[in-house]
Amino acid sequence: MGALGNPEGSREQLESGAGRRPKCFSLHLGILPLTVFLLVFFGYGFLSQRSQKSREPGAVTRMVYAQPKVLTPSREDVLVLTPWLAPIIWEGTFNIDILNEQFRLLNTTIGLTVFAIKKYVVFLKLFLETAEQHFMVGHKVIYYVFTDRPAEVPQVPLGAGRKLVVLTVRNYSRWQDVSMHRMEMISNFSERRFLQEVDYLVCADVDMKFQDHVGVEILSALFGTLHPGFYRSSREAFTYERRPKSRAYIPWDKGDFYYMGAFFGGSVVEVYHLTKACHQAIVEDKANGIEAVWHDESHLNKYLLYHKPTKVLSPEYMWDQQLLGWPSIMKKLRYVTVPKNHQAIRNR
Ligand code: UDP
Ligand code: MN
Repeated sequence: MGALGNPEGSREQLESGAGRRPKCFSLHLGILPLTVFLLVFFGYGFLSQRSQKSREPGAVTRMVYAQPKVLTPSREDVLVLTPWLAPIIWEGTFNIDILNEQFRLLNTTIGLTVFAIKKYVVFLKLFLETAEQHFMVGHKVIYYVFTDRPAEVPQVPLGAGRKLVVLTVRNYSRWQDVSMHRMEMISNFSERRFLQEVDYLVCADVDMKFQDHVGVEILSALFGTLHPGFYRSSREAFTYERRPKSRAYIPWDKGDFYYMGAFFGGSVVEVYHLTKACHQAIVEDKANGIEAVWHDESHLNKYLLYHKPTKVLSPEYMWDQQLLGWPSIMKKLRYVTVPKNHQAIRNR
């Protein structure tokens, strides 16, 4: 705004300056800049109105950005596309300005589900504070905090267009059950609530923090994240469930990637289908006296093998620096593990 937004102030300055000069001068010197100023001011308004009008509804504006070069791959060191043509999201492969505008034009609302059951409420503060800095900034966000300790949810100041909803749910004594029942609770609340309130769901572990940008580049009908411990491994090394008795069973000669249970998402309807299917498989396993080796993560991997994700997030979106350092292919570490004492935190 500044000078353009305040023609009154500018005119006052011109008139007071004119008082010290002969009258004919003051007319000449006063009116000319004023005329130029008014022409620029109203001309600017006219042109900006025209340019707004000439933008078709739903079309992106004509911004200037680096041209995509057909003979210059965005990354040469990593796979950026799956065999079913889903993008794999790495730094350097996307232009966030274009994506932000596309998702803003659709007035996209993103739900972030996070569970803080029993002692895990201690992770909420850092999780939420860092999400405010890095997660979907500039977009509408609803945090859905599932907890059995609603009174212990911290008050974290939220930016404009962002809110937090506390969903009080039951706990389970085994941490494995807490982890697995996330599938049931997300599917129940998707049907009852999320379908009406948000466009996309992002389902995240709470014992993590955001350390760099995580934005709309991740959004798609169905996405999973490469597990940082297995992105270099061949499929036989993946810790899939290998017992045919489990519904999560994947044979040795099958598998694309090993996805991490701590970060997945998609449109509400796709997340509803995924979580419902995983929950049903978990219930069936329990009835058959078997529990998949990596719990909900094993079932997630089975689901994503036969329902191919439409985007795959690189390990930039799920990293453990203590364990894995910072290799040069990782241009950014966006969502990272917070060190924890498993024994102390998992038990009441
Ligand atoms: N969780 C919880 N309370 C518990 C155990 C687990 O809230 O007592 C939730 C929490 O969101 C956590 C997720 O389940 O991030 C998965 O568990 P955890 O992070 O312990 O699994 P890991 O990442 O260590 O495999
Ligand atoms: Mn975790």
